[in-house]
Amino acid sequence: MASNTRFNIAVLSGDGIGQEVIPAAIRVLDIAQKVTGGFQLEFGALPAGAGHYRDTGVDMPDETLEKVKAADAILLGAIGLPDVRHEDGTEISPHLRIREELGLYAGVRPVKAYPNTPARLADPNARNIDLVIVRESTEGLFYSQGRGEIIGDTEARETLRITRETCEKLFDFSFRLAQKRKARGKPGKVTCVDKANVFRAFAFYRRIFDERAENFPDIDTGYNYVDAQALDLIRKPWDFDVLVAENMFGDILSDLAGGLVGGMGLASCGEIGDEHGLFQPAHGSAPDIAGEDKANPLAAILSAALMLDWLGDRSGNVSLTRAAQLIEAGIENAFVANTLRPIELGGNQGTSEATDTVIKTIEEPG
Ligand code: ATP
Repeated sequence: MASNTRFNIAVLSGDGIGQEVIPAAIRVLDIAQKVTGGFQLEFGALPAGAGHYRDTGVDMPDETLEKVKAADAILLGAIGLPDVRHEDGTEISPHLRIREELGLYAGVRPVKAYPNTPARLADPNARNIDLVIVRESTEGLFYSQGRGEIIGDTEARETLRITRETCEKLFDFSFRLAQKRKARGKPGKVTCVDKANVFRAFAFYRRIFDERAENFPDIDTGYNYVDAQALDLIRKPWDFDVLVAENMFGDILSDLAGGLVGGMGLASCGEIGDEHGLFQPAHGSAPDIAGEDKANPLAAILSAALMLDWLGDRSGNVSLTRAAQLIEAGIENAFVANTLRPIELGGNQGTSEATDTVIKTIEEPG
């Protein structure tokens, strides 16, 4: 990080609605930066994705990867189009290569219920859902991607990988996140999600969780087997604060949890490593609604707020942290006032109008 006031943001809008929600997020970042002051973001647009592959035969130019590595943070839209594939039929996924090259082991997925949004659970406590899933993102079962074997036509094998090094970093990250949330009034608890009753690999995972927990005596710990966790996410999701899970478990649980509080258009995501952070809405390119100004921009805008918060922590410049809080409060307040009504949540606001509403609330709070 060259400066603690100027930040170079690599922007990969990608495919489909990525091209709509990322410009929306940048509009909001620009306003938050203007209102807060004290820092400057410089955006550099870079090509990558299925559209780029269709046009050029390359999913991500080498130059994009170099610039991504050199950037202070990465903002990504969505990658993939259903009719564009590699010759072997696999999806175009340069973002997975970025994740691997940059060692982005902690996938952070906040799950929060906003007022006046459709409640999927009848229990009134569902209004209080506010948790974060930390999904390990570089190993676990996904480590086997591209490495699995089909033996004859009779057997298939995929091997899960859990390493001490990544677990230690992942758990430390989760405990620090719980500390940060505790300072903002949340319970301060990390739940270890695993299947330690059946697999040695998860008993190992849980043992490392316990070892690292000793360094964070101010944070409560809990344990849940992944099947029980799925049940509890329906039965009492408001009881959880930070959940930390292996890659595949985290993948599944975060979609389940995202569904509890609305839809994909609210699902923000940060992918964080020791030196790099990539921020993207958790949804895909949604080709069914692309180009129609119908996409909900909030997941992208909330991901941009996560980026500011992360840059604030890394640089020590509190203006960024304030700007992140301004965006989050803007969205919360607009929902409270019932002025924010994206089409995805049953309202009538397209991408531009929903973005205008967030901007207005940031510019004229209260
Ligand atoms: P991927 O595998 O890349 O995650 P996908 O096909 O599983 O993609 P999405 O592209 O996220 O999933 O789309 C799933 C559904 O959710 C589609 O009907 C899409 O229109 C809807 N959707 C996704 N994101 C949004 C959004 N931001 N606003 C409104 N609807 C959305």
